[in-house]
Amino acid sequence: MEFDIRDKSTYSITTMRIMKGIAASSGIVIGKVFLYATQSLKAPRYIISDGDITQESIRFKDALSRAKEDLFALKKKTERDHVGKDLDILDTHIMMIQDPDFEDKILDGIESRLMNAECIIEDTIQLMISSLEQSQDEYLRERTMDLYDIQSRLLHQLMYIERASLTDISEEVVLVANNLLPSEVLTMNKKFIKGIVLDTGGKTSHTAILARAFEIPAVIGLSSVSQKVANSDMMIVDGNHGKVILRPNRQTIDEYKSFLEQWELHEAEMLSFNDLSARTLDGRRVELKANIEIPEEVESSVSHGAEGVGLYRSEFLFMRPGEHASEDEQFHEYSRVMKGMKDHGPVTIRTIDVGGDKMIPGLEDFDEENPILGWRAVRFCLSRPDIFKIQLRAMFRASVYGKLRIMFPMISGIEELDQVIEIVEEVKRECRRDGIAFDDRIELGSMIEVPSAALIADIIAKKVDFLSIGTNDLIQYTIAVDRGNEKIAYLYEPLHPGVLRMVKMIIDKGHEAGVPVGMCGEMAADPFYTVVLLGLGLDEFSMSPAAIPEVKRIIRSVSMDDAKALVSVIIGMDSYHDINSYVRNWMNERFEVFNYE
Ligand code: PEP
Ligand code: MG
Repeated sequence: MEFDIRDKSTYSITTMRIMKGIAASSGIVIGKVFLYATQSLKAPRYIISDGDITQESIRFKDALSRAKEDLFALKKKTERDHVGKDLDILDTHIMMIQDPDFEDKILDGIESRLMNAECIIEDTIQLMISSLEQSQDEYLRERTMDLYDIQSRLLHQLMYIERASLTDISEEVVLVANNLLPSEVLTMNKKFIKGIVLDTGGKTSHTAILARAFEIPAVIGLSSVSQKVANSDMMIVDGNHGKVILRPNRQTIDEYKSFLEQWELHEAEMLSFNDLSARTLDGRRVELKANIEIPEEVESSVSHGAEGVGLYRSEFLFMRPGEHASEDEQFHEYSRVMKGMKDHGPVTIRTIDVGGDKMIPGLEDFDEENPILGWRAVRFCLSRPDIFKIQLRAMFRASVYGKLRIMFPMISGIEELDQVIEIVEEVKRECRRDGIAFDDRIELGSMIEVPSAALIADIIAKKVDFLSIGTNDLIQYTIAVDRGNEKIAYLYEPLHPGVLRMVKMIIDKGHEAGVPVGMCGEMAADPFYTVVLLGLGLDEFSMSPAAIPEVKRIIRSVSMDDAKALVSVIIGMDSYHDINSYVRNWMNERFEVFNYE
């Protein structure tokens, strides 16, 4: 049965409902919903009968007094933390919410119009707002924002939707929201957020990448899940199959508890691969490295058997609250990673890849019409050499603690690469001049994530020590499909023949030029593609640490002859549907534990 909690008749309905979305981060969790309202709420509107007036009035009065309590508590906290403008605003809100005229207007409205409280509140406040908007007095016009705030506060109370901040969550919950910014995932209280469920997003959006980094099971791209649950509803998040079950019945909960046990056993079995090397049955050795976003992930990289860091997304350092990422702060963070990975392989720090879906508040104005095709990554760095040079200098200083590789994102042509290399040389000269010790053998690499770069991979390869394929962006730009848009997620297809040919070309051209070719896009983390990538000749797979054991298990179970034979068949196929089903059958025949859906 399909229903909506905004419909009054369904407030108490407990019918189970299954929704299918995108499996963004593996794992299973059963927990209570915490609905995070990032958007303004829409008031439900329904007719009530004469007999409902008293009940509806009580519902409104209760919500009003909870909103008052909330405001007083907030005022107390604000007084404790700091004084000033916030306090004035809160006083205004308290005054408005305590106004007996306002309370009477709502109660009269419920009785005379026989409509629910949310609807009367919205209409009454809208009327007050329109009359303020007509005013010549600027002060009065500005009060409209306060009225919007009061309306939102009351609607949240009536609908039992929390306005709390994600850093304050203090009990275990499944976070449900329309959308979540990467910076919100970074700062939320991860100890208590056990699952993430979103209306929006694609598998390679940075929010999804962070969920995997923090090993929080997540299902995203569900369209309207945030409108179909209420706070404290039970929910099962199946991040392995991209499924969520709202208000599960007893039998389903029991079923999932047993899936959870199996999953935990599977995870424990996977850990037994940590000390083994990634070698095929016939002896081809590939390297499995970790993708990390913050230094804290080093521990998990080591414990999952990573042979170095293949991608450190340094831009997340700039997204932390209160971080200014000065040279010293960056040096400190990079050194932590270098020291933590010492004896476990090289650390590849990617220079700041800001822009696109990774905005850094306060750093620059990224208000662009087309941010994905805009001023991002190396384009930003080349126009802000001040920021770029500080970052490079911090990296050089940290290079004494291990083996450092520096990688440049979004290279689209040779001119950009030449300019970047020139700046690197300049920073080296400055370090020498200033007597700063650094490792002179730092390797430089280019990401290949723009189709133009893929097409000239042979030219790029001659100028660098390694290539790393960023399939998240490469697929987005090759198929012209926004990686974060759930509506067109069906087009985002790593086995599209166009993508496959491009990946093959990059690997072949890299090898002809004598440089190793890795992949740090999410395609490298998905065991479904492991044999295909082996067959294409990939040298290095880099992924979130938790994905390493499963990929290693697959590598250790196949021979290069088999992998090449698989590739020789699919490379001649026309449609990604055919390629997908061929690979699925191939994988399912050989790997029964992991069921490729
Ligand atoms: C990529 O594009 O594949 C990549 C690894 O970079 P990011 O996901 O940070 O854009
Ligand atoms: Mg990218």
